[in-house]
Amino acid sequence: MSSVVETRTASLSRGPDPKLKHSVKEEAPADNNIPDNYVSWTLKNQEPLPPVTLENLFENIQWLNLAVLTIIPSVAIYGLFTVKMQWQTFVWSVIYYFITGIGITAGYHRLWAHRSYNASKPLKYFLAAAGTGAIQGSVKWWCRGHRAHHRYTDTELDPYNAHKGFWYSHVGWIIIKPRYKPGVADVSDLSKDSVIQWQQRWYMWLILGFGLVLPTVVTGIGWGDWRGGFFFAGAARLCFVHHSTFCVNSLAHWFGETPFDDNHTPRDHFITALVSVGEGYHNFHHQFPMDYRNAIRWYQYDPTKWFIWVCAQLGLASHLKVFPENEVKKGQLTMELKRLRATQDGLTWARDIQELPVISWESFQEQAVKRALVVIAGFIHDVADFVDEHPGGRHLLVKYIGKDATAAFFGGVYGHSNAAHNLLSMKRVGILHGGIQHGLQDKTVPPAQRLRVARYNELGGLPNCSSSAVSDNEGMIG
Ligand SMILES: [Zn+2]
Ligand SMILES: [Zn+2]
Repeated sequence: MSSVVETRTASLSRGPDPKLKHSVKEEAPADNNIPDNYVSWTLKNQEPLPPVTLENLFENIQWLNLAVLTIIPSVAIYGLFTVKMQWQTFVWSVIYYFITGIGITAGYHRLWAHRSYNASKPLKYFLAAAGTGAIQGSVKWWCRGHRAHHRYTDTELDPYNAHKGFWYSHVGWIIIKPRYKPGVADVSDLSKDSVIQWQQRWYMWLILGFGLVLPTVVTGIGWGDWRGGFFFAGAARLCFVHHSTFCVNSLAHWFGETPFDDNHTPRDHFITALVSVGEGYHNFHHQFPMDYRNAIRWYQYDPTKWFIWVCAQLGLASHLKVFPENEVKKGQLTMELKRLRATQDGLTWARDIQELPVISWESFQEQAVKRALVVIAGFIHDVADFVDEHPGGRHLLVKYIGKDATAAFFGGVYGHSNAAHNLLSMKRVGILHGGIQHGLQDKTVPPAQRLRVARYNELGGLPNCSSSAVSDNEGMIG
């Protein structure tokens, strides 16, 4: 144990290896030395900013972000009323919306934030340029926030904490200064990427070029619609692509199903996928963030996944990561069992065998004179309220009062349905002393109870655990 600590201290104090003169200066991972109880430790020791009130609102607003998020839509609305929309410009605006959207989803998100596949240099430059055209900050800034979101989902350290409400997770977090600093998340791997270094170096120029100049130049040179290009493919498209991404933090944490895990807020929904270039299967994504897919079924809408797949076919992308299907199915099964358990718990079941009194044959005979008691498969049943309801007729039931009707019930007269077996078990009032014969288990357990949803602590022992957990030093070899 101590040798591990010593080795690390020694290597840190030595600094970079002097022999590696040409290597890029290594950036130490930001989360290298955080305490094991980091979240609770931070929440206890970090002084949050005071709550936002009307008095301190002014100094708590991130003015540059607010300006970007209000000026762009205002410009777009102005254009809508003053510039005639040409169909070519409309088509180009939609195409450019998808190009810049893909820059965020396939580039910023799935490639850089989650490393869910490897991209070739040309593809990386395309994604970095397209993502910059969506004006959502640099790759490094974006990924740092997103990695914190995945690591601290739904806590105060999650920059888009969905528990603070829909609008906070949509835009509030960008406009208002956070009360807590977002939790630590390492992005030192991104600093080594030459394409990201290129984006950092030319960031302001790239924003102007791909955010506004390129969409305008295409329509201007293409069909002389300079103003349309600026207002629609530039400003209006930007507004859509902004809110498309914001929806992944708001809508995808609020609306839809939880087929893989319901511990946190992320949800799956087709509508979210539709407005976010395929990022709407967010419950799956939070469970399997390194999977290059968000949607796992072919019919689900995930154009980002299709784009990455096509790039792989063209040799531009490789090592597409897919979580093992077996593990994905475990998540789905867990949620299905949870739902089934809730249904099971909502039903009334036969009394526990341990609670039933054991009655002798003589006592059964005596009591059957006063009550409509019938023995079937070793259990004494009170059928008084069922005599007149018996589908086979009252007489068939009455003739077995005070007798053993096991043979008749199990096919001697009529092979009763599962429903009949289940109903019969509800009428148990006692156990006949010595009445349950060997080999009758399938008759004593009603069909509805033969397969049940049980928690592991309700079973006899822990699954996959030996009760004699003593190591023989051989068990784990091979
Ligand atoms: Zn999320
Ligand atoms: Zn993600």
